[in-house]
Amino acid sequence: MNIHEYQAKEIFRAAGIPIPPGEVATTPAEAEAIAKKFGGTVVVKAQVHAGGRGKAGGVKLAKTPEEARSVADKILKLHIKDLPVQKVLVTPAADIASEAYVGIIVDRARKKAVFMVSPAGGIDIEEVAAKTPEKIMYHPVDARYGLMDFEAQQMGFFLYKDAKQARAAASIMKQLYQAFVKSGASLAEINPLVVTPKGEVLALDAKMVVDDNELDRHPEIAKLRDESAEAPSEVQARNANLTFIKLDGNVGCVVNGAGLAMATMDLVKYYGGEPANFLDIGGSSNPEKVVNALKIITADPNVKAILFNIFGGITRTDDVANGIVTATKQNPLKVPIVIRLTGTNEEIAMKILQDNGFSASSDMDEAVKKAVELATKGGKAA
Ligand code: GDP
Ligand code: MN
Repeated sequence: MNIHEYQAKEIFRAAGIPIPPGEVATTPAEAEAIAKKFGGTVVVKAQVHAGGRGKAGGVKLAKTPEEARSVADKILKLHIKDLPVQKVLVTPAADIASEAYVGIIVDRARKKAVFMVSPAGGIDIEEVAAKTPEKIMYHPVDARYGLMDFEAQQMGFFLYKDAKQARAAASIMKQLYQAFVKSGASLAEINPLVVTPKGEVLALDAKMVVDDNELDRHPEIAKLRDESAEAPSEVQARNANLTFIKLDGNVGCVVNGAGLAMATMDLVKYYGGEPANFLDIGGSSNPEKVVNALKIITADPNVKAILFNIFGGITRTDDVANGIVTATKQNPLKVPIVIRLTGTNEEIAMKILQDNGFSASSDMDEAVKKAVELATKGGKAA
């Protein structure tokens, strides 16, 4: 789950990290009032679950409350990476002498939380990693001891030559690590961490991601979810107990089991197609799940063909077949569908589908190839 910058900042502030104050506005008039209250130049920042807001025009300085109103008006009309901006954070502008990057991610290979820090912050950290990897320091943390003082100092001095600034950065890293662990986060990031002309070290941006499976243990984080800021298809899928991730391709995939879903996506790519989504209808599917899955997938205008790939174990393929029939009766399909079913109750499933005018096969390779062909053809015709 993603949370907003203003929410992550509250968590980081509570851990002691120095962050300028800020308030959230949903209208230009509110933004103006907040700017007036702070006085001086403010920054108006789009609150969306997307990085690179600065480049997309979602972060703007405003010298007067009137200007804050007009930039808020523009930002609130933006879509950044397809997500509508519904809130802006208004915060007093800091003067910046230098921008650094400080992040913690869970590294699955190392099975550890790893710090990544760089004195070259502010811009895309991916670009720094690609072009000047020597400007990034990686530091895995031993969870038994946490981040030790000397480790934090070492990273602090990698960022800054000035001892006072290095120590300030070190204590921010310790606080960030605490917030990261306490929240059960998979990522916590400050970019930029700035030094002001007066030599103060401040966090001007905050990002945190918490794995959905961690939320039961962190109700305080779970309640920060902002469904209005998430892709509608992902919200619908979560409420229907489906594991769904929207992607950019045109082959809509309905699969049971995460492993088979990954294999299906691989095969779609192998045959030259692009999956429109990852969707796992789960182990014990019922017709209702299939109905919901089809609703979500067909709502995506990019989808030019639908591919069912079901391996019936606990999942009964006749349940899936009934789901397909019910769903397509409710909402007749506008794009071709390719069905591959095999396993539990396969004969019954095939019969249900045939009786209702669908064809199905039990060969995965063949089905995926056909779905890719149909999606490509459909794409060209449209
Ligand atoms: P992001 O692009 O989504 O990561 O948004 P950021 O919050 O990191 O803002 C992008 C850039 O805007 C930063 O790298 C800064 O250069 C600039 N910026 C953000 N806050 C301030 C501020 O308070 N003062 C000044 N001068 N620039 C800021
Ligand atoms: Mn940033």
